[in-house]
Amino acid sequence: MSLLLKNGQVYYNDDFQNLDILIEGNKIKKVGKNLDDNADEIQDCSGLSIFPGFIDTHVHFREPGDEKKETLESGSRAAVLGGMTGVFEMPNTNPIVDNLERLNDKLSRAKNRMHCNYAFYFGATNENSDNLDILKGLDGCCGVKMFVGSSTGDLLVKDSFYIEQVIKNSPRIVSIHSEDEDMLLARKNVIEEGNVKSHYIWRSVECAVSSTKKLIDFANKHKKKIHILHITTKDEVNYLKDNQSDYVTFETTPNHISLYGPDIYDQIGTFAQINPPIRTKEHLEGIWKGIDENIISIIGSDHSPHTKEQKNQPYPKSPSGMPGTQTIGLIMTDYYLKNKISLKKLVDLLCVNPCKLFGIKDRGEIKEGNIADLTIYNLNKSFTIKDEWIASNCGWTPFNGKELKVSPFGTFVQGNKVVWDQKLVNEAKGQAYAFN
Ligand SMILES: [Zn+2]
Repeated sequence: MSLLLKNGQVYYNDDFQNLDILIEGNKIKKVGKNLDDNADEIQDCSGLSIFPGFIDTHVHFREPGDEKKETLESGSRAAVLGGMTGVFEMPNTNPIVDNLERLNDKLSRAKNRMHCNYAFYFGATNENSDNLDILKGLDGCCGVKMFVGSSTGDLLVKDSFYIEQVIKNSPRIVSIHSEDEDMLLARKNVIEEGNVKSHYIWRSVECAVSSTKKLIDFANKHKKKIHILHITTKDEVNYLKDNQSDYVTFETTPNHISLYGPDIYDQIGTFAQINPPIRTKEHLEGIWKGIDENIISIIGSDHSPHTKEQKNQPYPKSPSGMPGTQTIGLIMTDYYLKNKISLKKLVDLLCVNPCKLFGIKDRGEIKEGNIADLTIYNLNKSFTIKDEWIASNCGWTPFNGKELKVSPFGTFVQGNKVVWDQKLVNEAKGQAYAFN
Protein backbone atom coordinates (compact mmCIF):
# COMPACT_ATOMS: atom_id res chain seq x y z
CA MET A 1 0.00 0.00 0.00
CA SER A 2 1.39 3.41 -0.93
CA LEU A 3 -0.04 6.81 -0.16
CA LEU A 4 0.98 10.16 -1.58
CA LEU A 5 0.41 13.31 0.47
CA LYS A 6 0.37 16.15 -2.03
CA ASN A 7 0.77 19.91 -1.72
CA GLY A 8 1.24 20.12 2.03
CA GLN A 9 3.44 22.63 3.79
CA VAL A 10 6.00 20.14 5.02
CA TYR A 11 8.42 20.88 7.86
CA TYR A 12 11.72 20.11 6.16
CA ASN A 13 15.24 21.49 6.84
CA ASP A 14 13.91 23.62 9.71
CA ASP A 15 11.24 25.37 7.65
CA PHE A 16 7.98 24.82 5.81
CA GLN A 17 8.35 23.81 2.16
CA ASN A 18 5.73 22.90 -0.37
CA LEU A 19 6.55 19.21 -0.81
CA ASP A 20 4.94 15.83 -1.37
CA ILE A 21 5.46 12.84 0.90
CA LEU A 22 5.23 9.28 -0.42
CA ILE A 23 4.43 6.73 2.27
CA GLU A 24 4.89 3.01 1.67
CA GLY A 25 3.86 0.63 4.43
CA ASN A 26 4.85 2.28 7.70
CA LYS A 27 7.72 4.27 6.22
CA ILE A 28 8.41 7.50 4.38
CA LYS A 29 9.59 6.38 0.95
CA LYS A 30 10.28 9.76 -0.59
CA VAL A 31 10.02 13.49 0.10
CA GLY A 32 10.17 15.90 -2.82
CA LYS A 33 8.50 18.24 -5.25
CA ASN A 34 5.84 16.96 -7.64
CA LEU A 35 6.29 13.29 -6.85
CA ASP A 36 4.60 11.09 -9.44
CA ASP A 37 1.03 10.02 -9.01
CA ASN A 38 1.44 6.25 -9.15
CA ALA A 39 0.59 5.80 -5.50
CA ASP A 40 -2.36 3.57 -4.55
CA GLU A 41 -3.96 6.54 -2.85
CA ILE A 42 -3.46 10.28 -3.22
CA GLN A 43 -4.38 12.68 -0.47
CA ASP A 44 -4.49 16.38 -1.21
CA CYS A 45 -3.02 18.36 1.71
CA SER A 46 -3.41 21.87 0.33
CA GLY A 47 -3.64 24.38 3.13
CA LEU A 48 -2.31 21.92 5.72
CA SER A 49 0.97 21.95 7.63
CA ILE A 50 2.74 18.64 8.16
CA PHE A 51 5.14 18.13 11.05
CA PRO A 52 7.26 15.13 12.02
CA GLY A 53 5.13 13.32 14.62
CA PHE A 54 4.82 15.20 17.89
CA ILE A 55 5.44 13.11 21.00
CA ASP A 56 4.08 13.68 24.50
CA THR A 57 6.79 12.27 26.76
CA HIS A 58 4.78 12.63 29.97
CA VAL A 59 1.28 11.17 30.45
CA HIS A 60 -0.58 9.28 33.18
CA PHE A 61 -3.30 7.06 31.71
CA ARG A 62 -4.49 5.36 34.97
CA GLU A 63 -4.68 1.81 33.58
CA PRO A 64 -4.56 -0.53 35.37
CA GLY A 65 -6.35 0.59 38.52
CA ASP A 66 -8.47 3.63 37.74
CA GLU A 67 -10.03 3.18 34.31
CA LYS A 68 -12.88 5.52 35.13
CA LYS A 69 -10.40 8.38 34.83
CA GLU A 70 -8.53 7.04 31.81
CA THR A 71 -7.61 3.91 29.93
CA LEU A 72 -4.75 3.31 27.52
CA GLU A 73 -7.40 3.43 24.79
CA SER A 74 -9.15 6.66 25.85
CA GLY A 75 -5.93 8.49 26.69
CA SER A 76 -4.29 7.60 23.39
CA ARG A 77 -7.48 8.55 21.52
CA ALA A 78 -7.27 11.98 23.15
CA ALA A 79 -3.61 12.19 22.14
CA VAL A 80 -4.15 11.47 18.42
CA LEU A 81 -7.17 13.78 18.22
CA GLY A 82 -4.82 16.55 19.37
CA GLY A 83 -2.22 15.54 16.79
CA MET A 84 0.16 13.60 19.02
CA THR A 85 1.70 10.48 17.47
CA GLY A 86 3.13 8.92 20.62
CA VAL A 87 3.26 9.02 24.41
CA PHE A 88 5.49 7.94 27.28
CA GLU A 89 3.23 6.69 30.04
CA MET A 90 4.05 6.86 33.75
CA PRO A 91 4.31 3.96 36.23
CA ASN A 92 2.26 5.32 39.16
CA THR A 93 -0.75 3.25 38.21
CA ASN A 94 -2.33 0.69 40.49
CA PRO A 95 -0.47 -1.60 40.92
CA ILE A 96 2.70 0.41 40.34
CA VAL A 97 5.01 -0.65 37.52
CA ASP A 98 8.14 -1.57 39.44
CA ASN A 99 8.99 -4.94 37.90
CA LEU A 100 9.20 -6.46 34.43
CA GLU A 101 6.02 -8.45 34.80
CA ARG A 102 3.97 -5.29 35.29
CA LEU A 103 5.78 -3.49 32.50
CA ASN A 104 4.97 -6.38 30.18
CA ASP A 105 1.37 -6.31 31.39
CA LYS A 106 1.11 -2.68 30.23
CA LEU A 107 2.73 -3.52 26.91
CA SER A 108 0.24 -6.29 26.27
CA ARG A 109 -2.72 -4.10 27.31
CA ALA A 110 -1.47 -1.44 24.87
CA LYS A 111 -1.32 -3.80 21.91
CA ASN A 112 -4.13 -3.19 19.41
CA ARG A 113 -5.75 -0.73 21.83
CA MET A 114 -3.53 2.34 21.73
CA HIS A 115 -4.11 4.78 18.89
CA CYS A 116 -0.67 6.36 19.14
CA ASN A 117 2.78 4.88 19.63
CA TYR A 118 3.89 4.30 23.17
CA ALA A 119 6.57 3.44 25.68
CA PHE A 120 6.19 2.89 29.39
CA TYR A 121 8.25 4.11 32.31
CA PHE A 122 9.62 1.76 34.93
CA GLY A 123 9.06 3.06 38.47
CA ALA A 124 12.05 3.32 40.80
CA THR A 125 11.69 2.09 44.39
CA ASN A 126 14.16 1.58 47.24
CA GLU A 127 13.86 -2.15 46.63
CA ASN A 128 14.64 -2.18 42.90
CA SER A 129 17.30 0.57 43.06
CA ASP A 130 20.15 -1.96 42.82
CA ASN A 131 18.49 -4.08 40.16
CA LEU A 132 17.86 -1.67 37.29
CA ASP A 133 20.17 -3.43 34.84
CA ILE A 134 17.18 -5.43 33.66
CA LEU A 135 16.12 -2.33 31.68
CA LYS A 136 19.14 -2.38 29.39
CA GLY A 137 18.08 -2.32 25.75
CA LEU A 138 14.44 -2.98 26.59
CA ASP A 139 12.12 -1.80 23.81
CA GLY A 140 8.79 -0.34 24.89
CA CYS A 141 10.45 1.10 28.01
CA CYS A 142 11.51 4.76 27.79
CA GLY A 143 13.42 4.94 31.06
CA VAL A 144 13.11 5.05 34.82
CA LYS A 145 10.67 7.36 36.60
CA MET A 146 11.51 8.42 40.11
CA PHE A 147 9.29 10.42 42.44
CA VAL A 148 11.50 12.01 45.10
CA GLY A 149 8.51 13.96 46.43
CA SER A 150 5.17 12.24 46.80
CA SER A 151 2.38 13.02 44.37
CA THR A 152 -0.37 10.74 43.01
CA GLY A 153 0.00 7.02 43.78
CA ASP A 154 2.43 5.08 45.93
CA LEU A 155 5.74 5.50 44.13
CA LEU A 156 8.34 7.30 46.22
CA VAL A 157 12.11 7.27 46.70
CA LYS A 158 12.70 9.92 49.34
CA ASP A 159 16.01 9.12 51.05
CA SER A 160 19.15 10.57 49.50
CA PHE A 161 20.90 7.23 49.71
CA TYR A 162 18.34 5.52 47.48
CA ILE A 163 17.92 8.53 45.19
CA GLU A 164 21.63 8.37 44.48
CA GLN A 165 21.48 4.58 44.02
CA VAL A 166 18.78 4.88 41.36
CA ILE A 167 20.70 7.53 39.40
CA LYS A 168 23.96 5.61 39.76
CA ASN A 169 22.55 2.21 38.81
CA SER A 170 20.12 3.01 36.04
CA PRO A 171 21.28 2.01 32.54
CA ARG A 172 18.58 4.31 31.12
CA ILE A 173 17.71 7.96 31.57
CA VAL A 174 16.05 8.70 34.93
CA SER A 175 13.12 11.14 34.72
CA ILE A 176 12.35 12.72 38.03
CA HIS A 177 9.51 14.43 39.87
CA SER A 178 11.63 16.86 41.88
CA GLU A 179 10.23 18.15 45.17
CA ASP A 180 11.92 17.59 48.53
CA GLU A 181 9.75 15.14 50.46
CA ASP A 182 11.09 16.03 53.93
CA MET A 183 10.39 19.71 53.29
CA LEU A 184 6.89 18.91 51.99
CA LEU A 185 6.14 16.94 55.15
CA ALA A 186 7.61 19.60 57.44
CA ARG A 187 5.52 22.33 55.80
CA LYS A 188 2.15 20.57 55.95
CA ASN A 189 1.02 23.07 58.59
CA VAL A 190 0.66 25.80 55.94
CA ILE A 191 -2.05 23.85 54.12
CA GLU A 192 -5.30 25.77 54.62
CA GLU A 193 -8.43 23.70 54.33
CA GLY A 194 -10.70 25.07 51.66
CA ASN A 195 -8.03 27.41 50.27
CA VAL A 196 -6.38 25.98 47.16
CA LYS A 197 -4.09 29.01 47.00
CA SER A 198 -2.20 27.54 49.92
CA HIS A 199 -1.16 24.69 47.60
CA TYR A 200 1.75 26.58 46.08
CA ILE A 201 2.67 28.08 49.45
CA TRP A 202 2.93 24.57 50.86
CA ARG A 203 4.79 23.09 47.87
CA SER A 204 7.18 26.03 47.91
CA VAL A 205 9.86 27.18 45.48
CA GLU A 206 12.48 25.98 47.98
CA CYS A 207 11.03 22.44 47.97
CA ALA A 208 11.65 22.25 44.24
CA VAL A 209 14.98 24.07 44.14
CA SER A 210 16.72 22.19 46.93
CA SER A 211 15.64 18.86 45.46
CA THR A 212 16.73 19.79 41.93
CA LYS A 213 20.17 20.97 43.08
CA LYS A 214 20.73 17.68 44.87
CA LEU A 215 19.68 15.66 41.82
CA ILE A 216 22.02 17.63 39.54
CA ASP A 217 24.91 16.91 41.94
CA PHE A 218 24.20 13.17 41.84
CA ALA A 219 23.96 13.14 38.04
CA ASN A 220 27.28 14.96 37.66
CA LYS A 221 28.99 12.82 40.30
CA HIS A 222 28.04 9.57 38.56
CA LYS A 223 28.02 10.93 34.99
CA LYS A 224 24.48 9.61 34.54
CA LYS A 225 21.67 11.21 32.61
CA ILE A 226 18.68 12.63 34.44
CA HIS A 227 15.68 14.49 33.03
CA ILE A 228 13.94 16.71 35.56
CA LEU A 229 10.23 16.86 34.85
CA HIS A 230 7.82 19.79 35.06
CA ILE A 231 10.21 22.55 36.10
CA THR A 232 8.12 25.23 37.84
CA THR A 233 10.57 27.84 39.15
CA LYS A 234 12.76 30.51 37.61
CA ASP A 235 15.33 29.56 40.25
CA GLU A 236 15.83 26.05 38.87
CA VAL A 237 16.20 27.48 35.36
CA ASN A 238 18.80 29.99 36.55
CA TYR A 239 20.64 27.32 38.51
CA LEU A 240 21.02 25.01 35.50
CA LYS A 241 21.97 27.97 33.32
CA ASP A 242 24.83 28.77 35.70
CA ASN A 243 25.75 25.11 36.19
CA GLN A 244 25.28 23.56 32.77
CA SER A 245 25.77 19.85 32.63
CA ASP A 246 25.93 17.17 29.94
CA TYR A 247 23.91 14.95 32.24
CA VAL A 248 20.90 17.09 33.01
CA THR A 249 17.89 18.13 30.92
CA PHE A 250 14.72 19.94 31.93
CA GLU A 251 11.08 19.54 30.94
CA THR A 252 8.23 21.94 31.56
CA THR A 253 4.51 21.72 30.75
CA PRO A 254 2.04 23.92 28.84
CA ASN A 255 0.31 24.45 32.20
CA HIS A 256 3.33 26.09 33.81
CA ILE A 257 3.94 28.44 30.88
CA SER A 258 0.28 29.34 30.28
CA LEU A 259 -1.37 29.54 33.71
CA TYR A 260 -0.28 31.41 36.82
CA GLY A 261 -1.36 32.11 40.35
CA PRO A 262 -3.17 33.51 42.11
CA ASP A 263 -5.35 34.30 39.05
CA ILE A 264 -5.84 30.73 37.80
CA TYR A 265 -6.90 29.57 41.28
CA ASP A 266 -9.53 32.33 41.36
CA GLN A 267 -10.74 31.23 37.94
CA ILE A 268 -10.87 27.44 38.21
CA GLY A 269 -10.15 26.68 41.87
CA THR A 270 -9.04 23.14 42.64
CA PHE A 271 -9.08 22.30 38.91
CA ALA A 272 -5.79 24.25 38.81
CA GLN A 273 -4.24 22.11 41.54
CA ILE A 274 -1.26 20.14 40.20
CA ASN A 275 2.16 18.94 41.45
CA PRO A 276 4.54 20.66 41.38
CA PRO A 277 2.13 23.59 41.53
CA ILE A 278 1.29 26.43 39.20
CA ARG A 279 3.12 29.40 40.70
CA THR A 280 3.21 33.16 40.11
CA LYS A 281 3.74 35.07 36.86
CA GLU A 282 7.34 35.77 37.84
CA HIS A 283 8.09 32.05 37.64
CA LEU A 284 6.12 31.59 34.43
CA GLU A 285 8.30 34.29 32.86
CA GLY A 286 11.46 32.65 34.20
CA ILE A 287 10.43 29.33 32.66
CA TRP A 288 9.79 31.03 29.31
CA LYS A 289 13.31 32.43 29.52
CA GLY A 290 14.53 28.88 30.07
CA ILE A 291 12.77 27.83 26.87
CA ASP A 292 14.23 30.76 24.92
CA GLU A 293 17.74 30.02 26.15
CA ASN A 294 17.55 26.25 25.58
CA ILE A 295 17.79 25.43 29.29
CA ILE A 296 14.46 23.61 28.92
CA SER A 297 14.53 21.12 26.06
CA ILE A 298 11.22 19.26 26.20
CA ILE A 299 7.57 20.13 26.79
CA GLY A 300 5.48 17.27 28.20
CA SER A 301 1.82 17.56 29.09
CA ASP A 302 1.87 15.70 32.43
CA HIS A 303 -1.62 14.58 31.41
CA SER A 304 -3.07 13.60 34.82
CA PRO A 305 -6.82 13.14 34.56
CA HIS A 306 -9.15 13.15 37.56
CA THR A 307 -12.94 13.17 37.42
CA LYS A 308 -14.84 16.41 37.88
CA GLU A 309 -16.41 15.01 41.04
CA GLN A 310 -12.99 14.39 42.56
CA LYS A 311 -11.64 17.78 41.53
CA ASN A 312 -14.71 19.48 42.95
CA GLN A 313 -13.93 18.32 46.49
CA PRO A 314 -12.68 21.02 48.85
CA TYR A 315 -8.90 21.50 49.02
CA PRO A 316 -6.85 19.53 50.06
CA LYS A 317 -9.20 16.57 49.54
CA SER A 318 -9.17 17.44 45.84
CA PRO A 319 -6.51 15.43 43.96
CA SER A 320 -3.65 17.11 42.08
CA GLY A 321 -3.48 16.86 38.29
CA MET A 322 -5.07 18.04 35.07
CA PRO A 323 -5.42 16.54 31.59
CA GLY A 324 -3.30 17.85 28.70
CA THR A 325 -2.28 15.35 26.05
CA GLN A 326 -5.02 16.47 23.64
CA THR A 327 -4.10 20.15 23.92
CA ILE A 328 -0.28 20.21 24.19
CA GLY A 329 0.57 20.21 20.46
CA LEU A 330 -2.04 22.82 19.63
CA ILE A 331 -1.16 25.14 22.49
CA MET A 332 2.52 25.05 21.60
CA THR A 333 1.76 25.61 17.90
CA ASP A 334 -0.41 28.56 18.92
CA TYR A 335 2.62 30.00 20.74
CA TYR A 336 4.56 29.68 17.49
CA LEU A 337 1.80 31.47 15.56
CA LYS A 338 1.82 34.22 18.21
CA ASN A 339 5.61 34.60 17.75
CA LYS A 340 6.38 33.39 21.25
CA ILE A 341 8.62 30.59 19.92
CA SER A 342 10.21 29.91 16.52
CA LEU A 343 9.00 27.16 14.22
CA LYS A 344 12.23 25.24 14.82
CA LYS A 345 11.84 25.56 18.59
CA LEU A 346 8.29 24.19 18.38
CA VAL A 347 9.44 21.07 16.54
CA ASP A 348 12.54 20.69 18.70
CA LEU A 349 10.50 20.76 21.92
CA LEU A 350 7.83 18.29 20.79
CA CYS A 351 9.70 16.00 18.42
CA VAL A 352 13.42 16.42 17.76
CA ASN A 353 14.58 16.65 21.38
CA PRO A 354 12.41 13.80 22.68
CA CYS A 355 13.77 11.56 19.90
CA LYS A 356 17.39 12.58 20.54
CA LEU A 357 17.27 12.55 24.31
CA PHE A 358 15.55 9.20 24.69
CA GLY A 359 17.04 7.66 21.55
CA ILE A 360 13.75 6.85 19.83
CA LYS A 361 14.59 4.95 16.66
CA ASP A 362 13.76 6.11 13.10
CA ARG A 363 11.90 9.27 14.01
CA GLY A 364 12.42 12.98 14.62
CA GLU A 365 12.46 14.16 11.03
CA ILE A 366 10.42 13.85 7.86
CA LYS A 367 12.93 12.01 5.70
CA GLU A 368 13.31 8.94 3.55
CA GLY A 369 13.43 5.75 5.62
CA ASN A 370 11.92 7.17 8.78
CA ILE A 371 8.65 5.84 10.20
CA ALA A 372 5.68 7.81 8.85
CA ASP A 373 4.41 9.41 12.06
CA LEU A 374 2.97 12.81 11.14
CA THR A 375 1.18 15.64 12.91
CA ILE A 376 -1.06 17.62 10.58
CA TYR A 377 -2.60 20.97 11.57
CA ASN A 378 -4.41 23.75 9.80
CA LEU A 379 -2.48 26.91 10.68
CA ASN A 380 -4.97 29.11 8.80
CA LYS A 381 -8.02 28.21 10.80
CA SER A 382 -8.80 29.13 14.39
CA PHE A 383 -10.12 26.68 16.94
CA THR A 384 -11.66 27.00 20.38
CA ILE A 385 -10.81 24.32 22.95
CA LYS A 386 -13.96 23.11 24.66
CA ASP A 387 -14.67 20.54 27.36
CA GLU A 388 -17.02 18.72 24.95
CA TRP A 389 -14.12 18.17 22.52
CA ILE A 390 -12.03 16.41 25.16
CA ALA A 391 -11.86 12.65 24.51
CA SER A 392 -10.23 11.81 27.82
CA ASN A 393 -12.53 9.95 30.19
CA CYS A 394 -12.24 12.90 32.58
CA GLY A 395 -14.15 15.13 30.13
CA TRP A 396 -12.65 18.52 31.02
CA THR A 397 -9.68 20.74 30.29
CA PRO A 398 -8.18 23.74 32.12
CA PHE A 399 -8.10 25.42 28.69
CA ASN A 400 -11.88 25.29 28.16
CA GLY A 401 -12.82 28.35 26.06
CA LYS A 402 -9.27 29.11 24.92
CA GLU A 403 -9.09 30.35 21.33
CA LEU A 404 -6.21 29.14 19.21
CA LYS A 405 -4.87 30.32 15.86
CA VAL A 406 -4.46 26.67 14.82
CA SER A 407 -6.91 23.83 14.44
CA PRO A 408 -6.26 20.10 14.68
CA PHE A 409 -6.65 18.15 11.45
CA GLY A 410 -4.89 14.83 11.00
CA THR A 411 -2.57 12.31 12.59
CA PHE A 412 -0.55 9.57 10.91
CA VAL A 413 0.74 6.73 13.07
CA GLN A 414 3.05 4.12 11.54
CA GLY A 415 2.01 5.20 8.03
CA ASN A 416 -1.69 4.91 8.87
CA LYS A 417 -4.16 7.75 8.62
CA VAL A 418 -5.57 7.54 12.12
CA VAL A 419 -7.23 10.94 12.41
CA TRP A 420 -8.50 13.02 9.50
CA ASP A 421 -10.58 16.19 9.52
CA GLN A 422 -10.61 15.99 13.34
CA LYS A 423 -12.18 12.54 13.37
CA LEU A 424 -10.86 9.14 14.32
CA VAL A 425 -10.89 7.20 11.02
CA ASN A 426 -8.97 4.03 11.82
CA GLU A 427 -8.45 1.28 14.35
CA ALA A 428 -5.74 1.50 16.97
CA LYS A 429 -2.42 1.45 15.10
CA GLY A 430 0.07 2.36 17.83
CA GLN A 431 3.26 0.35 18.30
CA ALA A 432 5.82 0.22 21.07
CA TYR A 433 8.79 2.52 20.45
CA ALA A 434 12.19 0.97 19.93
CA PHE A 435 15.22 2.77 21.39
CA ASN A 436 18.83 3.14 20.30
ZN1 LIG B 1 3.56 13.39 35.92
